[in-house]
Amino acid sequence: MTVSVTGATGFIGRRLVQRLQGDNHSVHVLTRSRSRAELIFPAREFPGIVIAEEVKWKDSIQSSNAVVNLAGLPISTRWSPEIKKEIKDSRIRVTSKVVDLINKSPQEARPAVLVSATAVGYYGTSETQIFDESSPSGSDYLAEVCREWEATAFTVNKDVRLALVRIGVVLGKDGGALAKMIPMFKMFAGGPLGSGQQWFSWIHLDDIVNLIYEALVNPSYKGVINGTAPNPVRLAEMCNQLGDVLGRPSWLPVPDFALKAVLGEGATVVLEGQRVVPAKAKELGFRFKYPYVKDALKTIL
Ligand code: NDP
Repeated sequence: MTVSVTGATGFIGRRLVQRLQGDNHSVHVLTRSRSRAELIFPAREFPGIVIAEEVKWKDSIQSSNAVVNLAGLPISTRWSPEIKKEIKDSRIRVTSKVVDLINKSPQEARPAVLVSATAVGYYGTSETQIFDESSPSGSDYLAEVCREWEATAFTVNKDVRLALVRIGVVLGKDGGALAKMIPMFKMFAGGPLGSGQQWFSWIHLDDIVNLIYEALVNPSYKGVINGTAPNPVRLAEMCNQLGDVLGRPSWLPVPDFALKAVLGEGATVVLEGQRVVPAKAKELGFRFKYPYVKDALKTIL
């Protein structure tokens, strides 16, 4: 099939594109910057890949069987009021554009599937509750972002199968949260971040890519699906495992202020968490390659 992907140049998108091309699907990279995308996907390594700047998104979408929507300003940065606004606006803007292009496509050219990203931030944070797909949304800023992001995706034409993947913290090489956590962890001889009691709902990069892939090809995947490993851990446990894998002691807590100095308000993503379980993925029979964080970390580090 032919798949158009927004955010294809990002951490998850790059791996997804490799997976799709590896399975002989055609890929259109929907990007804001052709030159950056061409550096990420050089033609000799990604033969046949189509790179489409915004003016070409319509053509790409109309020649695709499916769309994956991953774009958005990264959230793990310092949050100034402008950045906070753009974290939300970028997601709504791109999702809205994609949905609009799908809805306005002539029926015979309309993609049959939209897989759209959202995040476990939807549930808000808690040290005690367990969240599955039926749990209500939280009341903080990230919950509001996710609600609006999802509501925008839900406006897609009802003939299009929509899968909304509520993604947890993705662990993989060369990017994502781990790339930011490891230097700090090493600097403080790596103990828990903050109190350590917060929940950390993680997923290995291979598993989130497989889940998105499955959502593209399997008609049973529709509605909201949590994209988290079946065994979330408290942050103290995550840091212990990280210490073990890196061969470093894990006894000195990384102070909140150090994390906030680096990440600003974006540190709340790590300092306050939620325990999210992949009820729907399990019900659908999805097989996680990495159900346990230690095995995931071993393959990554
Ligand atoms: P990245 O931050 O690596 O990449 C996202 C892509 O979005 C970029 O490559 C870029 O593509 C596009 N983008 C960046 N800024 C903007 C902007 N201001 N306006 C429009 N587009 C922009 O994301 P990930 O691969 O890590 O994640 C993919 C999606 O999954 C994101 O929406 C993220 O919120 C969500 N998610 C990720 C998690 C994680 O741990 N990684 C956890 C939970 C949710 P280009 O320049 O080509 O247009």
